Amino acid sequence: MEYTEGRGWHDPVIKPYGPLPLDPSAMCLHYGQEVFEGMKAYRAADGRILLFRPEENFKRLNTSCERLCIPKVDEAFCLKALEQLVEIERDWVPHIPDASLYIRPFIIATEGKLGVHASNSYYYVVVLSPSGPYYAAGLDPVKIYVEKSYVRAVRGGMGFAKTGGNYAASLKAQEEASEQKYAQVLWLDGVERRYIEEVGAMNIFFVIGDEVVTPALQGSILPGITRKSALELMASWGLTVSERRLAIDEVAEAYDKGLLKECFGTGTAAVVSPVGELKWGDKVMEIGGGQIGPVSQRLYDTLTGIQWGKVEGPAGWSVEVCK
Ligand code: PMP
Repeated sequence: MEYTEGRGWHDPVIKPYGPLPLDPSAMCLHYGQEVFEGMKAYRAADGRILLFRPEENFKRLNTSCERLCIPKVDEAFCLKALEQLVEIERDWVPHIPDASLYIRPFIIATEGKLGVHASNSYYYVVVLSPSGPYYAAGLDPVKIYVEKSYVRAVRGGMGFAKTGGNYAASLKAQEEASEQKYAQVLWLDGVERRYIEEVGAMNIFFVIGDEVVTPALQGSILPGITRKSALELMASWGLTVSERRLAIDEVAEAYDKGLLKECFGTGTAAVVSPVGELKWGDKVMEIGGGQIGPVSQRLYDTLTGIQWGKVEGPAGWSVEVCK
């Protein structure tokens, strides 16, 4: 659908996949005024097609819109429209175990004007694409290193928004990490370069002694929906979970004392991704002996169980699109 000043959002349509008509001076191309979301539709064994907490994605989309000066969408309307779209395209939701239909809603600024200001017109678009199982080769622990040169986001910036600029800022670091055979980088805060933020496309958790710790949301990291769900689940299991500032030297100290039991990332793509190696300068921390730890495994089983309709989750987490 389109947004035009004075008219608001209008004319939602479903079209075959293809190029968008775009002015070469469209503001999204020059000033990065765009936001997006990432979610999935899952096919349960009994044929139901399920979305996982989709209202959270539309809420976050609007939070991103606000930061990027993009007019907000009607969350209930977008959710209903998405449910109808997935129902129409239901045959594209894979039958293969652990595969899903990836859903990418996004908004781009379309006004053709060279000059920095908020656009007066936008497209809201949803792209669907089947995606294969994330862990084709099993739940293999990943290697990450602590980024020392580059910063992804700073407080007061737009790290909490899901917008292309944050990912553009991370490309160079990601490329250098890949060259060194690391899966992703662990970002530190942009001021003291000490406090842990998140990894490339995941939030991060550490099991230190009996406490599960994840960095608190302070404006520079993405408030992941998997992160929020993991926190809620672990609290319901009676685990001690903390959202707080966590310095990399605290993690290193815990490692030296034998208290660093597990480290894992959370995100829509990987769900729960165990981290087997964390490198900070010359210090290499090997975690979990190449195995996934019990907290990570329980979270993975529970979250994927809920997503694929095998496990009853908390009320409202599974939204049934069609049967
Ligand atoms: N941080 C970043 C930078 C991400 O791109 C993602 C993936 N959306 C996440 C965290 C995890 O968020 P979610 O659990 O909502 O997928």
